Amino acid sequence: MAGLSTDEIMGIALEMAGMHHPPADSAIYVEGTGLSKVMFGIDIGTAELLLARQLGCDGVIAHHPAGGSAQLNFPEVLTRHVELMVEHGVSPTAARDAIQSMMTRALLRAQSQNFDHVPSVARLLDMPFLNVHLPLDEVGRRIMVDTIGRHCESLGRPASVQDAIDALLTLPEFANAPTRIMVPVGAVDRPLGRVAIVHGAGTNGGYAVARTYYEHSIDTVLYIHVAPEDAQRLRSDTRGNLIVSGHISSDMIGINQFVAKLEERGVEIVRMSGLEQWGTDQPAVEEANIEDAEPEQPVVAEENSPLRLLEPIVIPATIETETGTEPEDVPEPAPGTSIRTDTQELPEVNVEETSSVPEGTAKLPSTVEMDEDEEPEAETPPPT
Ligand SMILES: [Zn+2]
Repeated sequence: MAGLSTDEIMGIALEMAGMHHPPADSAIYVEGTGLSKVMFGIDIGTAELLLARQLGCDGVIAHHPAGGSAQLNFPEVLTRHVELMVEHGVSPTAARDAIQSMMTRALLRAQSQNFDHVPSVARLLDMPFLNVHLPLDEVGRRIMVDTIGRHCESLGRPASVQDAIDALLTLPEFANAPTRIMVPVGAVDRPLGRVAIVHGAGTNGGYAVARTYYEHSIDTVLYIHVAPEDAQRLRSDTRGNLIVSGHISSDMIGINQFVAKLEERGVEIVRMSGLEQWGTDQPAVEEANIEDAEPEQPVVAEENSPLRLLEPIVIPATIETETGTEPEDVPEPAPGTSIRTDTQELPEVNVEETSSVPEGTAKLPSTVEMDEDEEPEAETPPPT
């Protein structure tokens, strides 16, 4: 039969990432075979499923978890932060401590969500539907690591933060991105030093994970996005650099590789929700004028501008400043809230067993505990 099955589509992504099983944040919601025209978006909801039917698609792929086990078990993939930290020289104990608060929030968020809303619509439409998250982010992370490493090695001198940004801008996803790479903590002219590319771990590690890297001889952390309040806390009490590369453009690095594989197999991809052509089919890097693609001079906020709070920062002159924070759909536990059950244990991450490539083998942490004296941190952002 022409076309691919949902299993085959998932299998292609797993093979690209060197994984043997779908990780906890990726799932097939409605199985199907012979898919030849597939809608693919970073975020898929009920309206998009209907649109897919209207456009004559015979399947839908989302990047971010859209419900079911991918949403319920999403906190498992946060343990990938521990693996990444340990690979960068952080002790396993410090790494586990750094994700405790984030894990607690993710577990509460997962439990609060209507995990079956979108999948139920796909079932009623009989629309084959899956999401592929961590495998594609892992592919993107490796590309970013290689790109920055090769570029900085070729310089013949110690690299600066700006050099890493220049390296990223050789990737079409960044060179053509409507968003800009930012440095909300540290400065572009500082030495790059030791770098940690923190992508492909469910979502960014927030304040605690970045601070832990800085405390363990990592000079520069790259997140693909960060909550403003986390950036501000890092600015106030750390000395590291934080590069924020941009959520959608960063997600697209792995997604574009995957789309190319699907198209090689004869599947027509209907791009939407972030997959529009700005990330591909643009002039290749060799053709693009890299001089033009380099960031403009960092914009330094005026003395009385609200941007002062995040200065120094590489931002486009036209950026709209938000005075609020990201919308939160889960109420924050009150400070000092303690949530504990007799049967639950704190998340344990076996670093020895889960080192290197994530294979979806992490055990779902079963304890939700918040220290009484713990200062609440920013809401765990949605999956990246
Ligand atoms: Zn994402």
